[in-house]
Amino acid sequence: MEQALEALRKALDLAQRRRRQSDRHAIRYPFYPLPRVAVLGLELEGPAGVRCLVDWTPEELVRLRPQALAGWWNDLAEVARRVLAGELELPDLQFPILVFSRAGSAPLPPRCHDLLWEWFRVPTFEQIRGSDGELIAFECAARAGFHLAPGVEAEAVSLVRVPESCPCGSSAPLYRADAALRATAG
Ligand SMILES: [Zn+2]
Repeated sequence: MEQALEALRKALDLAQRRRRQSDRHAIRYPFYPLPRVAVLGLELEGPAGVRCLVDWTPEELVRLRPQALAGWWNDLAEVARRVLAGELELPDLQFPILVFSRAGSAPLPPRCHDLLWEWFRVPTFEQIRGSDGELIAFECAARAGFHLAPGVEAEAVSLVRVPESCPCGSSAPLYRADAALRATAG
């Protein structure tokens, strides 16, 4: 009896763990194969090489030697602050950065993208994500605007649809920040 209960408990544990893993949201990096990416502040699903550091420390980052970073603006700004102050060295950083912004707020203003370029000297792709990391919209490789993640309704984002087609070749509609919203946020 006890053995049967133990087996049942193990099976339930395993099922729960599997479910949690599949609940994780995908990283969606714009290029393949992916470099060694350190994801800061979020648990995301990705191929080998993607490491999620939810409560990251500079020591962890140094050990990981990431080739790319992904994270919320605040975390990336903190990494940059430490790099510029000479407290943190990331010599392998050479691939594009993913910066996450929150659904419901306007995308990051251009000056944030400019700062990321100044700090890290690599291009940045913005992704709009929900609070538990689900992808809402993303800048594709062409960086001409945002595409909505599958199943997302346009009302979920503070973006406006533009009548152009995306240079990436995707037939998915293209969205950009609402200029009026950006003006009030900026
Ligand atoms: Zn595109």
